[in-house]
Amino acid sequence: MISEFEIIRRYFTRPAPSAVLGVGDDCALVMARRGMTLALSTDMLLVGRHFLPNADPALLGHKSLAVNLSDLAAMGADPRWALLAIALPNADEKWIAAFSRGFFRLARRFDTELIGGDTTRGPLTIAITVIGEVAPKLALRRDGARAGDDVWLSGATGEAALGVAHLEGRVRLKGRAREACLHRLHAPEPRVRLGQRLSGLARSAIDVSDGLLADLGHVAKASRAAAELRWEDIPRARAIAECSDAALAKACLLGGGDDYELVFTAPPSRRHQIEAAGKSAGVRVTRIGAMVAGRPGVRLRDARGKTVSTPRAGFDHFA
Ligand code: ADP
Ligand code: MG
Repeated sequence: MISEFEIIRRYFTRPAPSAVLGVGDDCALVMARRGMTLALSTDMLLVGRHFLPNADPALLGHKSLAVNLSDLAAMGADPRWALLAIALPNADEKWIAAFSRGFFRLARRFDTELIGGDTTRGPLTIAITVIGEVAPKLALRRDGARAGDDVWLSGATGEAALGVAHLEGRVRLKGRAREACLHRLHAPEPRVRLGQRLSGLARSAIDVSDGLLADLGHVAKASRAAAELRWEDIPRARAIAECSDAALAKACLLGGGDDYELVFTAPPSRRHQIEAAGKSAGVRVTRIGAMVAGRPGVRLRDARGKTVSTPRAGFDHFA
């Protein structure tokens, strides 16, 4: 049976040239580049809560880092380093090797170096801390939105939640729709490049992990302004547009979590630059509404100005 020490050496020790000191000592040592602040975030994934015991380990390695990188993206930060605390029920080397592969494949794409962590035995749990860099004045905070800003969305929301509905038997997806939704659920793409290009352009941003309305609601509240969305302008992925259950599709579009798109606000004078940022980051960006003065919250109207009813609010682990 492989030892804890050997697991760390074989599967979680890789060169970390940009750190002063990586895996192997009591602490890792890092230095921020001149004038940059460190952006830090942690997200935890638990078996039975965030994924099933039989989840594909390579996809899990990808997703557990992806959800963390998404937070850096939403701050407009450059990913630099990560720490990985993992509890494993047993030392299944095949499983650990696949997890490590999925993790480092994504880490390499975004120049993220693993510099430390903790490895212990227990119910499968993955807690990752990411460290990024952002110029202090350019961080995309939740409290930066102003009345008059456009509200933008990258990509489209709802596919991951529709994938969950499919797995739970609440809808039957087929072919390309099924593939797209399950891919989105298991292998989300953190919008790191977009976030980097938006820093200095957008005034506020958040990643959609709990649902478009809920997450934009956090921005509205922090910024003490209201968001007014145009129902017809919210982009629909094919699987959402063609879903046989329109009520479910709407609930996923507006309230589904786990898509890891960015919703952000920017003054109208930035429209061309934001379109260009989306192009160079390789992701569509769509204007879906505007920030207005008034009681903080998110309102949804159709083309004639009528209020569109909205599904339940975002996910709350303790609700
Ligand atoms: P300590 O007893 O000081 O906590 P550990 O034996 O837990 O040290 O870890 C030894 C080294 O391996 C440390 O540098 C730690 O950061 C690193 N490490 C442990 N587990 C992981 C992991 N899963 N991924 C990356 N680094 C790890
Ligand atoms: Mg330790």
